[in-house]
Amino acid sequence: MSQVFVVDANHQPLNPVHPGRARLLLKAGKAAVYRRYPFTLILKTAVEHPAVSELRIKIDPGSKTTGIALVNDATGEVVFAAHLEHRGQAIKHALDQRRAVRRARRQRKTRYRQPHFLNRRRRPGWLPPSLESRVANVVTWVQRLCHLAPITAISQELVTFDLQAMENPEISGTAYQQGTLFGYEVKEYVLEKWNRRCAYCGVEGVPLQVEHIQARAKGGTNRVSNLCLACEPCNLSKGSQDVRVFLADQPDTLKRVLDQTRAPLKDAAAVNTTRRTLYERLKAFGLPVESGSGGLTKFNRIRRGLPKAHRIDAACTGGSTPAQLRLAGIIPLVITAKGHGCRQKCNVNDIGFPRSQPKGAKKVHGFQTGDLARAIVTKGTKQGTYTGRVLVRASGSFDLQTKQGRVQGISHRFCTPLHRSYGYTYTRLSEVCSPHPIHLKRKAHSSPA
Ligand SMILES: [Zn+2]
Repeated sequence: MSQVFVVDANHQPLNPVHPGRARLLLKAGKAAVYRRYPFTLILKTAVEHPAVSELRIKIDPGSKTTGIALVNDATGEVVFAAHLEHRGQAIKHALDQRRAVRRARRQRKTRYRQPHFLNRRRRPGWLPPSLESRVANVVTWVQRLCHLAPITAISQELVTFDLQAMENPEISGTAYQQGTLFGYEVKEYVLEKWNRRCAYCGVEGVPLQVEHIQARAKGGTNRVSNLCLACEPCNLSKGSQDVRVFLADQPDTLKRVLDQTRAPLKDAAAVNTTRRTLYERLKAFGLPVESGSGGLTKFNRIRRGLPKAHRIDAACTGGSTPAQLRLAGIIPLVITAKGHGCRQKCNVNDIGFPRSQPKGAKKVHGFQTGDLARAIVTKGTKQGTYTGRVLVRASGSFDLQTKQGRVQGISHRFCTPLHRSYGYTYTRLSEVCSPHPIHLKRKAHSSPA
């Protein structure tokens, strides 16, 4: 069951409680709603030296979605889970559009000017805006959750596979020595190295098998340099043939496969810049930060018989994962980054000409676009109650984006704010965490044997 966060009158985070208990607190008048997303109560009294059980925030960063889970390491209970949807693609699109409009405008009627492109300096650690926003989204949410729950440690998936562990299998304890975890790291490495496609026919999006280039039967080893990916038909038709025989009539493919075999995947490819930057920024929180590999996450998840989903991967990140994760009934909160509007003074059309009057003030009658509000309309043609995301107009006539659709022309006088925007919108994922994989799509590659 997703729990409800509680803070005391001094904004000190306390143990999250069961929703039933939260209802009782509200009913008895001992607490009030502090935040709607994630749902948080504030007690009307302060608690001296509260006994809190420590929580760990676990993060599985992705390019479109980041999984976040709050786990009690002692009991294995998952207290809260969220999917954080980034807007990297939207940022890139907006910047591309701005660049095109500026370029067209500057070329239109001006004299020739020399291009200026070598006069910019970037501070060390600079990331492109689309990547920076992903890192900033995660940091923002770690910060927010630290204010709402007693979080004392952070776990983050840092790399897809653990190169060092693969080279020195004995360094990481029994799991590696048993060879199972080792297999997961190798699989992730091979997937990355061969771009998640069949090495022989190039097919993507089908289950792929790890293939021995020189067959085991012909004395080929399990070394990573002897492994590649093959789809099932290719793997079957190759059988134990030598790769030179199998690809005798396709010299180009043979050359490519042999070249790619020799080239080791560079360390840099294993560590994604964004994740490394995120790791550095999380360390600045002053909490212990544990890092794990994607191979370890997958190992943890499959060992516990859990389906694949971002928040479940998040809960399985790192070596600290409890032997049993209790996440039945957790409904993840979907947090979508929406940005804070843009600095453009005026909307422009496709070729950069003003399309409207200059924009008005961002706040209108105390509301701004993105706020969640409830409107109880008592007169006119739109009588009724509406709840949704506000779109403000300077005239004070707002639109409300509700679940049923957009309702136009609601006066600000009928609106009550429910939750201020702060750059995100929220939905509940309808699918509940279940310990059994039922309706979940399989990943494009089969799990290692
Ligand atoms: Zn194939």
